[in-house]
Amino acid sequence: MDRLRVEGVGMTSQRTRNRLIQRLADEGISDARVLEVMANTPRHLFIEEALAIRAYEDTALPIGFGQTISQPYIVARMTELLIQRAKRLDKVLEVGTGSGYQTAILAPLVEKLYSVERIEPLLLKARKLLGELGLRSVEFRLSDGSLGWAEEAPFDAILSAAAPATIPAELKSQLAPDGVLVIPVGSDIQHLTVVTREGDSDKFTVERVEPVRFVPLVAGVVRQ
Ligand code: SAH
Repeated sequence: MDRLRVEGVGMTSQRTRNRLIQRLADEGISDARVLEVMANTPRHLFIEEALAIRAYEDTALPIGFGQTISQPYIVARMTELLIQRAKRLDKVLEVGTGSGYQTAILAPLVEKLYSVERIEPLLLKARKLLGELGLRSVEFRLSDGSLGWAEEAPFDAILSAAAPATIPAELKSQLAPDGVLVIPVGSDIQHLTVVTREGDSDKFTVERVEPVRFVPLVAGVVRQ
């Protein structure tokens, strides 16, 4: 892709990006690996051009189909929780590719990333952009992520960018020993939640981290 487009200018420049990173650090994001990938990832390419000047505000923005690109703070927080809590990061599943921004942040930090999205046009756009940005360690699939990705399970970690009312049993069952699921849970009031499989048992610990606002996890797929 055109180097100048990736680098950005003015409100999409590296300087503006660095200000966002400083803000995330001030808000308590402390993992240097997360801050570094976020500093290097051109969020303005993941949203439509008319909104690009707002790309480095710490806010969610519309990406069409009633969906949003997640707020940078929440992307950073979920990524930090996932990489710090998981014992291994060989196989990781992401539910809700959306714009592909969270995918681009997570991919360099794990060995192999699997990403599922239920809305085909979003999936196709994200896949194309990540290819152009040279991220090759990601496999995409159009499917209902509440069912996980059985053929590739178990996963060392799972991250969901959409909120179910209750924790989906399939996602828990697809966790590897000591595997970690980072997911917003709830309908009206949602909490970012970390579910951890205890060793290789069928017992799980559930920890509520902080209140959040996500789009709902919806069943079924939408084709182009
Ligand atoms: N991390 C993404 C967030 C997109 S919003 C980003 O920053 O762009 C959440 C996404 O989850 C939406 O694209 C929505 O279509 C998707 N989604 C909702 N329910 C889903 C399901 N059951 N399976 C897969 N994707 C789902």
